[in-house]
Amino acid sequence: MNMPVFKKTIFLTILSVALTLHLHSQLSDTQESIYPAKRSVLDYLERQDIVEKYGRISDAIWSYAELGLEEYRSAGLLAKTLEEDGFSVEMGLAGMPTCFLATYGSGKPVIAILVEYDALPMISQKGRVPYHDPVIDGAPGHGCGHNMMGTASIAAAIAVKHAMDEFNIQGTIKVFGSPAEENLISRPFMIRAGLFEDVDAVIDNHSSSAFGTGYGVSGTALFSSIFTFKGKTAHSAGSPWDGRSALDAVELMNIATNFLREHLHFSHRMHYVILEGGQVPNVVPDKASVWYYVRNSDERVEEMYERVVNCAKAAALATGTELEEIKVVGAIHQRHSNQSLAELFQRNIEIAGMPEWDEEEQEFARTLQRELGVEERGMPEEVNTLSPPRGVFTGGGSSDVGDVTLIAPTATIRFPGIVPGAVSHHWSTVSSTYGSAAWKGLNAGARAIAASAIDLLTLPGELEKIRAEFEEYTSQNPYRPFLPDDAEPFLELNRNLMQKYRPLMEQHYPD
Ligand SMILES: [Zn+2]
Repeated sequence: MNMPVFKKTIFLTILSVALTLHLHSQLSDTQESIYPAKRSVLDYLERQDIVEKYGRISDAIWSYAELGLEEYRSAGLLAKTLEEDGFSVEMGLAGMPTCFLATYGSGKPVIAILVEYDALPMISQKGRVPYHDPVIDGAPGHGCGHNMMGTASIAAAIAVKHAMDEFNIQGTIKVFGSPAEENLISRPFMIRAGLFEDVDAVIDNHSSSAFGTGYGVSGTALFSSIFTFKGKTAHSAGSPWDGRSALDAVELMNIATNFLREHLHFSHRMHYVILEGGQVPNVVPDKASVWYYVRNSDERVEEMYERVVNCAKAAALATGTELEEIKVVGAIHQRHSNQSLAELFQRNIEIAGMPEWDEEEQEFARTLQRELGVEERGMPEEVNTLSPPRGVFTGGGSSDVGDVTLIAPTATIRFPGIVPGAVSHHWSTVSSTYGSAAWKGLNAGARAIAASAIDLLTLPGELEKIRAEFEEYTSQNPYRPFLPDDAEPFLELNRNLMQKYRPLMEQHYPD
Protein backbone atom coordinates (compact mmCIF):
# COMPACT_ATOMS: atom_id res chain seq x y z
CA MET A 1 0.00 0.00 0.00
CA ASN A 2 1.29 3.49 -0.93
CA MET A 3 1.32 5.97 1.86
CA PRO A 4 0.82 9.58 0.70
CA VAL A 5 3.98 11.62 1.23
CA PHE A 6 2.51 14.09 3.77
CA LYS A 7 1.10 11.22 5.83
CA LYS A 8 4.48 9.54 5.75
CA THR A 9 6.12 12.73 7.03
CA ILE A 10 3.62 13.04 9.88
CA PHE A 11 4.10 9.38 10.68
CA LEU A 12 7.89 9.71 10.80
CA THR A 13 7.65 12.84 12.94
CA ILE A 14 5.38 11.08 15.43
CA LEU A 15 7.68 8.07 15.43
CA SER A 16 10.76 10.17 16.14
CA VAL A 17 8.98 12.11 18.91
CA ALA A 18 7.80 8.84 20.41
CA LEU A 19 11.30 7.37 20.28
CA THR A 20 12.78 10.48 21.87
CA LEU A 21 10.18 10.40 24.63
CA HIS A 22 10.78 6.71 25.15
CA LEU A 23 14.53 7.23 25.35
CA HIS A 24 14.04 10.17 27.68
CA SER A 25 11.78 8.16 29.94
CA GLN A 26 14.36 5.37 30.01
CA LEU A 27 17.11 7.79 30.89
CA SER A 28 15.10 9.48 33.59
CA ASP A 29 14.04 6.05 34.87
CA THR A 30 17.63 5.16 35.55
CA GLN A 31 18.51 8.55 37.02
CA GLU A 32 15.40 8.89 39.12
CA SER A 33 15.32 5.28 40.21
CA ILE A 34 17.67 6.06 43.11
CA TYR A 35 15.45 8.62 44.79
CA PRO A 36 16.08 9.41 48.50
CA ALA A 37 13.91 6.66 50.03
CA LYS A 38 15.59 4.07 47.84
CA ARG A 39 19.01 5.56 48.55
CA SER A 40 18.34 5.17 52.25
CA VAL A 41 17.60 1.40 52.08
CA LEU A 42 20.70 0.86 49.96
CA ASP A 43 22.88 2.89 52.34
CA TYR A 44 21.48 1.10 55.38
CA LEU A 45 22.14 -2.36 53.97
CA GLU A 46 25.63 -1.42 52.75
CA ARG A 47 26.77 -0.57 56.29
CA GLN A 48 29.44 -3.05 57.39
CA ASP A 49 27.80 -3.67 60.77
CA ILE A 50 24.55 -4.56 58.96
CA VAL A 51 26.33 -6.86 56.50
CA GLU A 52 27.88 -8.66 59.48
CA LYS A 53 24.71 -8.75 61.58
CA TYR A 54 22.71 -10.53 58.88
CA GLY A 55 25.67 -12.63 57.79
CA ARG A 56 25.85 -14.05 61.29
CA ILE A 57 22.09 -14.74 61.32
CA SER A 58 22.44 -16.61 58.02
CA ASP A 59 25.35 -18.67 59.37
CA ALA A 60 23.37 -19.47 62.54
CA ILE A 61 20.40 -20.78 60.51
CA TRP A 62 22.91 -22.68 58.36
CA SER A 63 24.25 -24.37 61.50
CA TYR A 64 20.75 -25.23 62.80
CA ALA A 65 19.97 -26.96 59.44
CA GLU A 66 16.39 -27.71 60.46
CA LEU A 67 14.12 -29.76 58.20
CA GLY A 68 10.65 -28.68 57.09
CA LEU A 69 8.11 -27.99 59.86
CA GLU A 70 10.91 -28.46 62.44
CA GLU A 71 12.42 -25.00 61.94
CA TYR A 72 11.79 -23.81 65.49
CA ARG A 73 15.18 -22.17 66.04
CA SER A 74 15.41 -20.75 62.51
CA ALA A 75 11.91 -19.27 62.38
CA GLY A 76 12.35 -18.11 65.98
CA LEU A 77 15.57 -16.22 65.21
CA LEU A 78 14.12 -14.52 62.12
CA ALA A 79 10.87 -13.59 63.89
CA LYS A 80 12.74 -12.29 66.94
CA THR A 81 14.97 -10.12 64.76
CA LEU A 82 11.91 -8.62 63.03
CA GLU A 83 10.17 -8.08 66.34
CA GLU A 84 13.21 -6.27 67.79
CA ASP A 85 12.95 -3.82 64.90
CA GLY A 86 9.27 -3.03 65.46
CA PHE A 87 7.41 -5.62 63.39
CA SER A 88 4.41 -7.29 64.99
CA VAL A 89 4.80 -11.06 64.70
CA GLU A 90 2.22 -13.85 64.71
CA MET A 91 3.74 -17.31 65.02
CA GLY A 92 2.16 -20.70 64.36
CA LEU A 93 -0.20 -19.79 61.50
CA ALA A 94 -2.14 -21.99 59.05
CA GLY A 95 -1.76 -25.02 61.31
CA MET A 96 2.07 -24.95 61.24
CA PRO A 97 4.02 -24.02 64.40
CA THR A 98 6.95 -22.63 62.39
CA CYS A 99 4.86 -20.50 60.02
CA PHE A 100 4.87 -16.79 60.86
CA LEU A 101 3.68 -13.43 59.62
CA ALA A 102 5.52 -10.24 60.55
CA THR A 103 3.80 -6.95 59.73
CA TYR A 104 4.85 -3.32 59.71
CA GLY A 105 2.79 -0.28 58.73
CA SER A 106 -0.87 -0.07 57.84
CA GLY A 107 -3.19 0.33 54.88
CA LYS A 108 -2.56 0.02 51.18
CA PRO A 109 -0.51 -0.96 49.33
CA VAL A 110 0.34 -4.27 51.00
CA ILE A 111 3.67 -5.62 49.82
CA ALA A 112 4.69 -9.16 50.77
CA ILE A 113 8.20 -10.56 51.11
CA LEU A 114 8.54 -14.36 51.26
CA VAL A 115 10.90 -16.00 53.74
CA GLU A 116 12.20 -19.60 53.68
CA TYR A 117 14.50 -21.32 56.15
CA ASP A 118 14.33 -25.12 55.88
CA ALA A 119 17.23 -27.47 55.13
CA LEU A 120 17.57 -30.81 53.30
CA PRO A 121 18.30 -34.25 54.74
CA MET A 122 21.49 -36.30 54.20
CA ILE A 123 23.82 -33.55 52.96
CA SER A 124 25.64 -32.35 56.08
CA GLN A 125 28.87 -30.56 55.18
CA LYS A 126 31.40 -28.21 56.78
CA GLY A 127 31.19 -24.59 55.61
CA ARG A 128 33.77 -23.23 53.14
CA VAL A 129 35.49 -26.61 52.86
CA PRO A 130 36.00 -27.37 49.14
CA TYR A 131 35.74 -31.17 49.40
CA HIS A 132 33.15 -33.52 50.86
CA ASP A 133 33.50 -33.39 54.66
CA PRO A 134 30.25 -33.78 56.65
CA VAL A 135 29.80 -32.17 60.06
CA ILE A 136 27.74 -35.24 61.02
CA ASP A 137 27.35 -38.10 58.60
CA GLY A 138 23.77 -38.26 57.29
CA ALA A 139 22.57 -35.10 59.04
CA PRO A 140 20.70 -32.28 57.25
CA GLY A 141 22.39 -29.33 55.56
CA HIS A 142 21.48 -26.11 53.75
CA GLY A 143 21.93 -27.34 50.19
CA CYS A 144 19.55 -24.79 48.67
CA GLY A 145 20.66 -21.66 50.53
CA HIS A 146 17.40 -21.09 52.40
CA ASN A 147 19.49 -19.80 55.33
CA MET A 148 20.64 -16.96 53.05
CA MET A 149 17.14 -16.37 51.67
CA GLY A 150 15.32 -16.06 54.97
CA THR A 151 18.00 -13.67 56.14
CA ALA A 152 18.05 -11.56 52.97
CA SER A 153 14.28 -11.16 53.23
CA ILE A 154 14.24 -9.94 56.81
CA ALA A 155 17.24 -7.64 56.28
CA ALA A 156 15.36 -6.06 53.37
CA ALA A 157 12.10 -5.79 55.32
CA ILE A 158 13.85 -4.06 58.22
CA ALA A 159 15.64 -1.65 55.86
CA VAL A 160 12.27 -0.80 54.26
CA LYS A 161 10.72 -0.26 57.69
CA HIS A 162 13.40 2.33 58.54
CA ALA A 163 12.78 4.12 55.23
CA MET A 164 9.01 4.05 55.83
CA ASP A 165 9.60 5.82 59.15
CA GLU A 166 12.11 8.32 57.77
CA PHE A 167 10.14 9.29 54.65
CA ASN A 168 6.62 8.81 56.04
CA ILE A 169 5.78 6.16 53.44
CA GLN A 170 2.25 4.78 53.62
CA GLY A 171 1.42 1.09 53.26
CA THR A 172 2.18 -2.25 54.82
CA ILE A 173 5.08 -4.66 54.63
CA LYS A 174 4.17 -8.29 55.34
CA VAL A 175 6.92 -10.83 55.82
CA PHE A 176 5.66 -14.38 55.32
CA GLY A 177 7.68 -17.02 57.20
CA SER A 178 7.04 -20.04 55.00
CA PRO A 179 8.21 -23.38 56.41
CA ALA A 180 8.97 -26.62 54.58
CA GLU A 181 9.56 -25.23 51.09
CA GLU A 182 11.77 -28.24 50.39
CA ASN A 183 8.79 -30.47 51.14
CA LEU A 184 6.55 -28.17 49.06
CA ILE A 185 4.06 -27.86 51.87
CA SER A 186 3.35 -24.48 53.40
CA ARG A 187 2.10 -22.01 50.78
CA PRO A 188 -1.17 -23.73 49.73
CA PHE A 189 -2.10 -24.00 53.43
CA MET A 190 -1.17 -20.35 54.02
CA ILE A 191 -3.34 -19.32 51.06
CA ARG A 192 -6.19 -21.49 52.32
CA ALA A 193 -5.91 -19.76 55.71
CA GLY A 194 -6.44 -16.42 53.94
CA LEU A 195 -3.02 -15.00 54.84
CA PHE A 196 -2.43 -13.49 51.39
CA GLU A 197 -5.91 -12.05 50.92
CA ASP A 198 -5.03 -8.33 51.01
CA VAL A 199 -1.61 -8.61 49.37
CA ASP A 200 -1.00 -6.40 46.30
CA ALA A 201 2.36 -7.80 45.15
CA VAL A 202 4.81 -10.45 46.34
CA ILE A 203 8.61 -10.33 46.34
CA ASP A 204 10.03 -13.83 46.28
CA ASN A 205 13.75 -14.60 46.30
CA HIS A 206 16.15 -17.49 45.93
CA SER A 207 19.86 -17.84 46.49
CA SER A 208 21.81 -18.71 43.38
CA SER A 209 25.21 -18.53 41.75
CA ALA A 210 23.91 -15.63 39.62
CA PHE A 211 22.00 -12.36 40.13
CA GLY A 212 18.86 -12.11 38.03
CA THR A 213 15.14 -12.55 37.57
CA GLY A 214 12.68 -13.74 34.96
CA TYR A 215 9.02 -14.07 34.11
CA GLY A 216 6.45 -16.41 32.64
CA VAL A 217 5.70 -20.04 33.42
CA SER A 218 8.51 -22.11 34.93
CA GLY A 219 9.11 -25.27 36.97
CA THR A 220 6.67 -28.11 37.43
CA ALA A 221 3.39 -28.62 39.24
CA LEU A 222 3.59 -31.45 41.73
CA PHE A 223 1.68 -33.97 43.81
CA SER A 224 3.66 -35.32 46.77
CA SER A 225 1.83 -38.32 48.26
CA ILE A 226 2.55 -41.24 50.53
CA PHE A 227 0.83 -44.52 49.55
CA THR A 228 0.39 -46.95 52.45
CA PHE A 229 -0.62 -50.59 51.95
CA LYS A 230 -1.98 -52.92 54.60
CA GLY A 231 -1.44 -56.68 54.38
CA LYS A 232 -1.36 -59.59 56.80
CA THR A 233 1.59 -61.06 58.70
CA ALA A 234 2.46 -64.76 58.62
CA HIS A 235 5.52 -66.99 59.04
CA SER A 236 7.41 -66.34 55.81
CA ALA A 237 8.51 -70.01 55.59
CA GLY A 238 5.99 -71.89 57.76
CA SER A 239 2.74 -70.63 56.21
CA PRO A 240 3.43 -67.87 53.67
CA TRP A 241 0.07 -68.63 52.02
CA ASP A 242 -1.61 -67.12 55.07
CA GLY A 243 0.18 -63.83 54.61
CA ARG A 244 -0.44 -60.86 52.30
CA SER A 245 2.70 -58.80 51.78
CA ALA A 246 2.27 -55.04 51.82
CA LEU A 247 5.83 -54.80 50.47
CA ASP A 248 4.75 -56.78 47.40
CA ALA A 249 2.13 -54.12 46.78
CA VAL A 250 4.74 -51.33 46.98
CA GLU A 251 7.03 -53.21 44.60
CA LEU A 252 4.24 -53.92 42.10
CA MET A 253 3.11 -50.31 42.25
CA ASN A 254 6.64 -49.19 41.43
CA ILE A 255 6.87 -51.62 38.52
CA ALA A 256 3.55 -50.35 37.17
CA THR A 257 4.57 -46.68 37.42
CA ASN A 258 7.91 -47.41 35.77
CA PHE A 259 6.07 -48.99 32.82
CA LEU A 260 3.83 -45.95 32.81
CA ARG A 261 6.78 -43.64 32.15
CA GLU A 262 6.96 -44.62 28.48
CA HIS A 263 3.47 -43.24 27.89
CA LEU A 264 3.75 -40.03 29.86
CA HIS A 265 4.46 -36.67 28.25
CA PHE A 266 8.23 -36.05 28.01
CA SER A 267 7.94 -33.18 30.51
CA HIS A 268 6.99 -35.50 33.38
CA ARG A 269 9.19 -36.14 36.40
CA MET A 270 8.41 -38.97 38.79
CA HIS A 271 10.48 -40.25 41.70
CA TYR A 272 9.88 -42.21 44.87
CA VAL A 273 11.47 -43.56 48.04
CA ILE A 274 10.25 -46.54 50.04
CA LEU A 275 9.56 -45.35 53.58
CA GLU A 276 8.59 -48.66 55.11
CA GLY A 277 8.87 -52.23 53.83
CA GLY A 278 8.77 -54.57 56.80
CA GLN A 279 11.25 -55.26 59.57
CA VAL A 280 12.57 -58.81 59.15
CA PRO A 281 12.42 -61.26 56.24
CA ASN A 282 10.77 -64.04 58.25
CA VAL A 283 7.61 -62.07 59.03
CA VAL A 284 5.49 -61.20 56.01
CA PRO A 285 5.28 -57.38 56.15
CA ASP A 286 1.75 -56.24 56.92
CA LYS A 287 2.58 -52.58 56.39
CA ALA A 288 4.56 -50.82 53.67
CA SER A 289 4.60 -47.32 52.26
CA VAL A 290 6.12 -45.45 49.37
CA TRP A 291 6.45 -41.68 48.89
CA TYR A 292 5.97 -40.35 45.38
CA TYR A 293 6.67 -37.01 43.72
CA VAL A 294 4.58 -36.73 40.54
CA ARG A 295 5.44 -33.66 38.47
CA ASN A 296 4.29 -32.15 35.21
CA SER A 297 2.76 -28.95 33.83
CA ASP A 298 -0.36 -27.49 35.47
CA GLU A 299 -2.37 -28.87 32.55
CA ARG A 300 -1.01 -32.43 32.71
CA VAL A 301 -0.22 -33.14 36.36
CA GLU A 302 -3.69 -34.14 37.57
CA GLU A 303 -4.22 -36.71 34.82
CA MET A 304 -0.73 -38.11 35.44
CA TYR A 305 -1.35 -38.31 39.18
CA GLU A 306 -4.61 -40.19 38.61
CA ARG A 307 -2.73 -42.80 36.57
CA VAL A 308 -0.22 -43.23 39.39
CA VAL A 309 -3.09 -43.68 41.87
CA ASN A 310 -4.49 -46.35 39.54
CA CYS A 311 -1.13 -48.18 39.66
CA ALA A 312 -1.46 -48.26 43.46
CA LYS A 313 -5.02 -49.57 43.31
CA ALA A 314 -4.01 -52.26 40.82
CA ALA A 315 -1.08 -53.33 43.02
CA ALA A 316 -3.40 -53.71 46.02
CA LEU A 317 -5.84 -55.79 43.99
CA ALA A 318 -3.07 -58.02 42.62
CA THR A 319 -1.55 -58.71 46.03
CA GLY A 320 -4.74 -59.05 48.06
CA THR A 321 -3.70 -56.12 50.21
CA GLU A 322 -5.50 -52.91 50.96
CA LEU A 323 -4.50 -49.44 49.81
CA GLU A 324 -4.99 -48.12 53.30
CA GLU A 325 -4.16 -44.45 52.79
CA ILE A 326 -3.06 -41.94 50.20
CA LYS A 327 -1.66 -39.05 52.20
CA VAL A 328 -1.23 -35.93 50.11
CA VAL A 329 1.77 -34.16 51.67
CA GLY A 330 1.70 -31.33 49.17
CA ALA A 331 0.10 -30.40 45.85
CA ILE A 332 1.23 -27.29 44.01
CA HIS A 333 1.13 -25.33 40.77
CA GLN A 334 3.87 -24.18 38.41
CA ARG A 335 5.20 -20.66 38.83
CA HIS A 336 3.59 -17.95 36.74
CA SER A 337 5.91 -14.99 37.33
CA ASN A 338 4.64 -11.49 36.58
CA GLN A 339 6.59 -9.77 33.78
CA SER A 340 6.05 -6.16 34.87
CA LEU A 341 7.18 -7.05 38.39
CA ALA A 342 10.23 -8.90 37.06
CA GLU A 343 11.14 -5.83 34.98
CA LEU A 344 10.97 -3.69 38.13
CA PHE A 345 13.17 -6.25 39.93
CA GLN A 346 15.65 -6.24 37.05
CA ARG A 347 16.18 -2.47 37.36
CA ASN A 348 16.88 -2.86 41.07
CA ILE A 349 19.18 -5.84 40.56
CA GLU A 350 21.22 -3.63 38.24
CA ILE A 351 21.28 -0.89 40.89
CA ALA A 352 22.33 -3.34 43.64
CA GLY A 353 25.04 -4.75 41.35
CA MET A 354 27.23 -7.82 41.67
CA PRO A 355 29.25 -7.89 44.92
CA GLU A 356 33.01 -7.52 44.74
CA TRP A 357 34.49 -10.86 45.72
CA ASP A 358 37.87 -10.89 47.42
CA GLU A 359 40.80 -13.12 46.49
CA GLU A 360 40.03 -15.69 49.20
CA GLU A 361 36.44 -16.02 47.92
CA GLN A 362 37.64 -16.41 44.34
CA GLU A 363 40.23 -18.96 45.37
CA PHE A 364 37.66 -21.00 47.32
CA ALA A 365 35.32 -20.93 44.29
CA ARG A 366 38.05 -22.12 41.91
CA THR A 367 39.15 -24.89 44.31
CA LEU A 368 35.58 -26.13 44.70
CA GLN A 369 35.07 -25.97 40.92
CA ARG A 370 38.27 -28.03 40.41
CA GLU A 371 37.03 -30.57 42.96
CA LEU A 372 33.69 -30.82 41.11
CA GLY A 373 35.35 -31.11 37.69
CA VAL A 374 33.70 -28.01 36.26
CA GLU A 375 35.20 -24.92 34.63
CA GLU A 376 37.35 -22.96 37.12
CA ARG A 377 35.69 -19.62 36.48
CA GLY A 378 35.52 -18.32 40.06
CA MET A 379 32.63 -16.12 41.18
CA PRO A 380 30.40 -14.22 38.72
CA GLU A 381 31.22 -10.64 37.66
CA GLU A 382 28.06 -9.34 35.99
CA VAL A 383 24.37 -9.45 36.82
CA ASN A 384 22.17 -11.34 34.35
CA THR A 385 19.81 -9.80 31.83
CA LEU A 386 16.07 -10.40 32.33
CA SER A 387 15.20 -14.04 31.50
CA PRO A 388 12.21 -14.60 29.22
CA PRO A 389 10.21 -17.83 29.59
CA ARG A 390 11.66 -20.96 28.03
CA GLY A 391 10.28 -21.72 24.58
CA VAL A 392 9.68 -25.41 25.29
CA PHE A 393 8.49 -26.82 28.58
CA THR A 394 10.92 -29.55 29.58
CA GLY A 395 10.10 -30.13 33.25
CA GLY A 396 12.34 -29.25 36.20
CA GLY A 397 12.03 -28.50 39.91
CA SER A 398 9.02 -27.19 41.80
CA SER A 399 8.24 -24.60 44.45
CA ASP A 400 5.09 -23.96 46.43
CA VAL A 401 5.64 -20.29 45.51
CA GLY A 402 3.78 -21.46 42.37
CA ASP A 403 0.45 -21.18 44.16
CA VAL A 404 1.32 -17.69 45.43
CA THR A 405 1.97 -16.52 41.85
CA LEU A 406 -1.68 -17.34 41.09
CA ILE A 407 -3.21 -15.36 43.94
CA ALA A 408 -1.05 -12.20 43.78
CA PRO A 409 1.47 -10.84 41.28
CA THR A 410 4.78 -12.47 42.16
CA ALA A 411 8.29 -12.76 40.76
CA THR A 412 11.59 -14.04 42.13
CA ILE A 413 14.91 -12.27 42.66
CA ARG A 414 17.75 -14.78 42.38
CA PHE A 415 20.77 -13.46 44.23
CA PRO A 416 24.40 -14.68 44.17
CA GLY A 417 26.74 -16.15 46.77
CA ILE A 418 26.72 -19.84 45.82
CA VAL A 419 29.77 -20.92 43.83
CA PRO A 420 28.92 -21.37 40.12
CA GLY A 421 29.04 -25.08 39.33
CA ALA A 422 28.14 -26.13 42.89
CA VAL A 423 25.43 -28.79 42.69
CA SER A 424 22.05 -27.96 44.21
CA HIS A 425 20.82 -30.25 47.03
CA HIS A 426 24.41 -31.51 47.38
CA TRP A 427 27.32 -30.98 49.84
CA SER A 428 28.99 -28.50 47.47
CA THR A 429 26.11 -26.05 47.88
CA VAL A 430 26.02 -26.58 51.65
CA SER A 431 29.71 -25.70 51.70
CA SER A 432 29.20 -22.44 49.82
CA THR A 433 26.07 -21.14 51.59
CA TYR A 434 28.19 -20.33 54.67
CA GLY A 435 30.69 -17.54 55.28
CA SER A 436 31.72 -14.27 53.69
CA ALA A 437 30.68 -14.82 50.06
CA ALA A 438 27.23 -15.93 51.24
CA TRP A 439 27.06 -12.79 53.42
CA LYS A 440 27.86 -10.53 50.46
CA GLY A 441 25.47 -12.37 48.15
CA LEU A 442 22.53 -12.24 50.53
CA ASN A 443 23.26 -8.57 51.20
CA ALA A 444 23.11 -7.82 47.46
CA GLY A 445 19.83 -9.77 47.36
CA ALA A 446 18.49 -7.78 50.30
CA ARG A 447 19.34 -4.50 48.53
CA ALA A 448 17.45 -5.57 45.38
CA ILE A 449 14.46 -6.74 47.47
CA ALA A 450 14.37 -3.58 49.59
CA ALA A 451 14.75 -1.24 46.60
CA SER A 452 11.93 -3.10 44.84
CA ALA A 453 9.68 -2.89 47.90
CA ILE A 454 10.27 0.88 48.05
CA ASP A 455 9.29 1.19 44.37
CA LEU A 456 6.12 -0.83 44.99
CA LEU A 457 5.20 1.30 48.00
CA THR A 458 5.90 4.67 46.41
CA LEU A 459 5.25 4.35 42.66
CA PRO A 460 1.52 3.66 42.26
CA GLY A 461 1.81 3.60 38.46
CA GLU A 462 4.18 0.63 38.64
CA LEU A 463 1.90 -1.31 40.95
CA GLU A 464 -1.11 -0.55 38.71
CA LYS A 465 0.71 -1.95 35.68
CA ILE A 466 1.73 -5.07 37.62
CA ARG A 467 -1.81 -5.57 38.95
CA ALA A 468 -3.37 -5.08 35.49
CA GLU A 469 -1.14 -7.80 34.02
CA PHE A 470 -2.04 -10.10 36.91
CA GLU A 471 -5.81 -9.45 36.67
CA GLU A 472 -5.75 -10.13 32.95
CA TYR A 473 -3.96 -13.45 33.47
CA THR A 474 -6.05 -14.66 36.38
CA SER A 475 -9.34 -13.71 34.72
CA GLN A 476 -8.42 -16.42 32.20
CA ASN A 477 -6.71 -18.72 34.74
CA PRO A 478 -8.42 -18.42 38.12
CA TYR A 479 -6.67 -20.10 41.05
CA ARG A 480 -7.91 -23.57 41.84
CA PRO A 481 -5.74 -25.34 44.44
CA PHE A 482 -4.48 -28.83 43.62
CA LEU A 483 -4.31 -29.44 47.36
CA PRO A 484 -7.36 -31.52 48.42
CA ASP A 485 -9.74 -29.76 50.83
CA ASP A 486 -9.18 -32.35 53.55
CA ALA A 487 -5.36 -32.23 53.45
CA GLU A 488 -3.61 -31.00 56.62
CA PRO A 489 0.06 -30.04 57.14
CA PHE A 490 2.05 -33.21 57.83
CA LEU A 491 3.64 -32.00 61.06
CA GLU A 492 5.38 -35.30 61.85
CA LEU A 493 7.04 -35.57 58.45
CA ASN A 494 10.59 -34.80 59.61
CA ARG A 495 10.20 -35.28 63.36
CA ASN A 496 12.16 -38.52 63.70
CA LEU A 497 15.07 -37.28 61.63
CA MET A 498 15.35 -34.07 63.64
CA GLN A 499 15.03 -35.92 66.93
CA LYS A 500 17.97 -38.02 65.85
CA TYR A 501 20.23 -35.25 64.56
CA ARG A 502 19.27 -32.13 66.53
CA PRO A 503 21.20 -33.05 69.72
CA LEU A 504 24.29 -34.00 67.70
CA MET A 505 24.17 -30.78 65.73
CA GLU A 506 23.68 -28.68 68.85
CA GLN A 507 26.89 -30.14 70.24
CA HIS A 508 28.75 -28.89 67.17
CA TYR A 509 27.10 -25.50 67.02
CA PRO A 510 25.96 -24.35 70.45
CA ASP A 511 24.10 -21.02 70.47
ZN1 LIG B 1 15.30 -23.82 47.43
